[in-house]
Amino acid sequence: MPAVSVALARRVPPPPDGATGRLAGVLADTHGRVHRDLRISLTDRCSLRCTYCMPEQGNEWLARQSILTLDEIEEVARVAAAAGITTFRLTGGEPLLRRDIIDVVRRLAAIQGPDGPIDIAMTTNGIALPGLLPALVDAGLRRLNVSLDTLRPDRFRELTRRDRLDDVLRGIAAAAASGLRPLKLNAVAMRGVNDDDLVDLVEFAGAHDAQLRFIEQMPLDVGHTWDRARMVTREEILDALGRRWTLAPVPGRGGAPAERWTLDGGPQTVGVIASVTAPFCGACDRLRLTADGQLRNCLFSTTEYDLMPILRGGSGSPRARLDAIDGMLRACVRGKLPGHAIDDPGFLQPQRGMNAIGG
Ligand code: SAM
Ligand code: SF4
Repeated sequence: MPAVSVALARRVPPPPDGATGRLAGVLADTHGRVHRDLRISLTDRCSLRCTYCMPEQGNEWLARQSILTLDEIEEVARVAAAAGITTFRLTGGEPLLRRDIIDVVRRLAAIQGPDGPIDIAMTTNGIALPGLLPALVDAGLRRLNVSLDTLRPDRFRELTRRDRLDDVLRGIAAAAASGLRPLKLNAVAMRGVNDDDLVDLVEFAGAHDAQLRFIEQMPLDVGHTWDRARMVTREEILDALGRRWTLAPVPGRGGAPAERWTLDGGPQTVGVIASVTAPFCGACDRLRLTADGQLRNCLFSTTEYDLMPILRGGSGSPRARLDAIDGMLRACVRGKLPGHAIDDPGFLQPQRGMNAIGG
């Protein structure tokens, strides 16, 4: 029984020619938030099947021909950078499954943002990192987040439905050795699943010179099985860690999604991304581009701004295409609501799962 209702996405088509406003300043929304971060989903495919993200079987994959090409991604990214975006985070699905991933990083890293070269980051399950990391770094990758929810092989197998913990651990070791810093590890905390792994995960992160961030589980699984009563809250995470370490808040969070605490005075820190119980919507500076060319202004949005007619419409001058992409970015930002409203009685879970939105 789904704990929340599901909403089909409303797709907003491009505005008519002439109704766009190229280079009309930064991407500020009607609530005063200036957007600096574009999350680019490169694929909805993945080498794992994490229970909080994807079903074991029966997932409806995006059609191959609907996946943005490298040229299309670069075109959107260039317009976004001209409009004030300073960070591209590559995600998915599993971004390292993309065959042209090195070229994606190289082409995006060559784009100049408002403050110089764009900051290129990636969120990955880590499995393919050992083979690809030197080329990724050479291509311009600057930062990595790797996901790891447990250190116990049997648990990992149950949680991800794949027996690949050793591969993930090799990936994290490669990331730690690469020198890319800060290295962040993401763990989704789940009641009765890994809530007794929290201290071990923090110690593991410390041993790899990485920052662990716990994420509250969000209603974004394809199967729509999320249940608020089963998620582990920020308070519970802090209680568990507080029994082992003295936690002191790190000031100066800015627009970062994670609140951070030092452990026993530091230098190691731990973060919590409390998207459900203490959302950071007021400081959110993120936009998302799905692998099939939809702009989204929130993980939980039920409206998507469709770039495909612009990217594949085949009409208009190159200048007009850039204008139209810019116009869609601005329409998407203008349409952003003040918050995600998970707690409202009428909250509708987006139809897409996290793997198809881009986490
Ligand atoms: N496959 C890559 C990975 O797992 O890191 C990148 C994509 S994944 C969708 C990005 C992040 O979203 C991961 O850290 C994952 O744990 C998190 N995530 C996925 N589903 C989630 C959910 N329902 N609630 C909270 N976090 C979720
Ligand atoms: Fe794959 Fe990441 Fe989703 Fe896990 S969270 S199934 S690794 S996309």
